[in-house]
Amino acid sequence: MPKRKPAARSAQRLKSKASTTRKVPASPGFTETEQEQTRRVRSILRVLKKKYPVVECALKHKNAYELLAATILSAQCTDVRVNRITPVLFKKYPTPADLAGAKQAAVEKIIHSLGFFRAKSTSLIGMATGLVESHHGEVPDSLEELIKLPGVGRKTANVVLGSWFGIPTGVVVDTHVRRISRLLGLTENKQPEKIEQDLITILPQKQWIDFSHRLIFLGREICVARKPGCTECPLLKYCPRVGLPTK
Ligand code: SF4
Repeated sequence: MPKRKPAARSAQRLKSKASTTRKVPASPGFTETEQEQTRRVRSILRVLKKKYPVVECALKHKNAYELLAATILSAQCTDVRVNRITPVLFKKYPTPADLAGAKQAAVEKIIHSLGFFRAKSTSLIGMATGLVESHHGEVPDSLEELIKLPGVGRKTANVVLGSWFGIPTGVVVDTHVRRISRLLGLTENKQPEKIEQDLITILPQKQWIDFSHRLIFLGREICVARKPGCTECPLLKYCPRVGLPTK
């Protein structure tokens, strides 16, 4: 299936929205004007792009169906673990029709080590059945249709639309994006849905996909949860390190 170019939405429109001087509380104890935030976000995006010039989804896949299935499996689980399992899964069930006809116990056996294997196998088979029954076995390229499939939430749909179809319908907020966006003072929210809305407001739409990928790389390599490596972080100059000790 051909990749699509991201739908264009004017970054300028978003920039002009952020041109007032109202003080905005990015997080308790950290405030900046919208103009300051706009400048800082621009710097963060530039530094992240320099650090990680080429980014792509860490879940191994060869087509939209495989990415959709892998993303469902990645809930509450690392991409590395998912990547160990999916070659076996896709060898046995190479198409949505194969997976739709699978026995639940057989799928559970393959994905057992990923956790939540009952729910995930139900979602996988349900998703594949939905593709076969409603989409001729193809993965739809709209958020509206994707989230109708069993086990496919907004986050999963955003991953597939962004990473396969190149359509930025939202910002994927995983555990790294959630944590680092708060440290960077880009949101004071905790729920992924609300964080996504904050990020959508302050990021140019053409950056929605890559910003998420880049924060995930940063979160794995430098801004790790147990001890962020601030002294080696290229974002230190632009990061208020919200919630971290000052010493
Ligand atoms: S400066 Fe520290 S807290 Fe901020 S993004 Fe870098 S590692 Fe994370």
